[in-house]
Amino acid sequence: CAATRIFHSTRAPGDLPPESLPMTAAAYAFSLLSSSTLPGRPALVDAATGIAVSYPSFLAAVRSLAGGLWCSLGLRPGDVALVVAPSRLEVPVLDFALMSIGAVVSPANPASTPEEYAHQVALSRPVVAFAAPEVAAKLPGHVRCVVIGSDEYGRLAAPDGRRAAAPAAVAVKQSDTAAVLYSSGTTGRVKAVAITHRNLIALMSLHADNREKVAREAAEAGEEPPPPAVTLLPIPLFHVFGFMMVLRSVSMGETSVLMERFDFIAALRAIERYRVTLLPAAPPVLVAMVKYEEARRRDLSSLLVIGIGGAPLGREVAEQFASVFPNVELVQGYGLTESSGAVAATVGPEESKAYGSVGKLGSHLQAKIVDPSTGYVGDDEATAATVDSEGWLKTGDLCYFNEDGFLYIVDRLKELIKYKGYQVPPAELEHILQSHPGIADAAVIPYPDEEAGELPMAFIVRQPGSNITKEQVMDYVAKQVAPYKKVRRVAFVTAIPKSPAGKILRRELVQQALSMVSKR
Ligand code: AMP
Repeated sequence: CAATRIFHSTRAPGDLPPESLPMTAAAYAFSLLSSSTLPGRPALVDAATGIAVSYPSFLAAVRSLAGGLWCSLGLRPGDVALVVAPSRLEVPVLDFALMSIGAVVSPANPASTPEEYAHQVALSRPVVAFAAPEVAAKLPGHVRCVVIGSDEYGRLAAPDGRRAAAPAAVAVKQSDTAAVLYSSGTTGRVKAVAITHRNLIALMSLHADNREKVAREAAEAGEEPPPPAVTLLPIPLFHVFGFMMVLRSVSMGETSVLMERFDFIAALRAIERYRVTLLPAAPPVLVAMVKYEEARRRDLSSLLVIGIGGAPLGREVAEQFASVFPNVELVQGYGLTESSGAVAATVGPEESKAYGSVGKLGSHLQAKIVDPSTGYVGDDEATAATVDSEGWLKTGDLCYFNEDGFLYIVDRLKELIKYKGYQVPPAELEHILQSHPGIADAAVIPYPDEEAGELPMAFIVRQPGSNITKEQVMDYVAKQVAPYKKVRRVAFVTAIPKSPAGKILRRELVQQALSMVSKR
């Protein structure tokens, strides 16, 4: 159809190892690492305790755990191991040890329910689970469980001269699965997503290329290249964003500061304490930085870059952020678990000023824009499948490229509200609402209506001290949108439910809206 167009990345193809070379993602990360210098820089820091793990200790810990996994536990390439723990220092060590022997690391949310684990285990069929003590009891009984921090774990992880080491190189193809991640499941049931070593290698090489580009631009401008990043990770390590950031950090010899769970004030404190330079985060963090005075009272002068992705970020909030924090570069990125992380991002200060855009396609990538109303008609099977017969991954997002190759994400197709047949993207209304000084946070959902089909309904969290009314909320939006996009119902709440990756849990809000009516 006329609206179908293929876009190609304009970024220079990076320096990737030949695909035929047997290699794990861990081996690739370490090969990049050995060529960089590591003068006493910690690989990992626990934000709460300040405990740091140096690079030599990290590499030694990975090696000895890999030996334990191979020799004592008998894990072999292709064996799936579930890793269910909050972001503790043991987790990156486990991830790298598993990948280095060709086992498949499968990180899952420690806050899931027993039913959710049962579903995930049925999909990925792990031979073993490594679980934090507080999580172990929720896992299905038939899966062998090693409790992280237990004596058994200690024996696996400790250096043991009598035990043979894991082989230095395992026969693992780059096309083999390295990780199984679980998609967010905010629309539909959670799916297990296989990510290959090649996927992870390509992503690490992309970060290395980006770093070179930024260093080159700095040199051209007569400036020093940015120092190796100290990255604070308030995003969970089981989500593709956090998982990838740790790989990036290790492959570049940088420092990751881990936070067990997201807490805005604790994050600000950690930025100050560890002189954090890079903060990857979900949009709510950016909204909080704009809205809360506390962010202005702290010394955040070390912060050079904030990387936002995982959910839509409004242009208005991005612009407000830029005016409050003019010295912090706002990098935006877009990706899916299914695409093994970011497929588009802004690179360097110039591109980052394209507020509202998620940047340009990463090297080696192509994107096809399909008209959602005319693509795949009569081909239900192709529509249902995530990957079509030509190998394109269907994102399910409504997006467009501008003439300069910048990608814009309007919303998820499944989340569009159908008002009298018109499509209303809730994200657009949320961005407008979030830009109001009296509103701390907002979410918009479809509210069932006999006449219109669905009405856009806003859930509003007021700023402390604000007494904004329903009418004022509706007026504020009405002045800025076409009539069919108006907010037609409003409810005030104390918080918007969100996933750990910052996605609004709309189903919960729809339930809430319906129960408000039934209680009347
Ligand atoms: P997940 O697999 O949980 O990371 O979810 C992927 C989905 O998150 C995408 O299909 C988008 O709907 C959404 N998403 C991720 N990054 C962005 C972004 N920068 N802007 C808008 N939506 C995003």
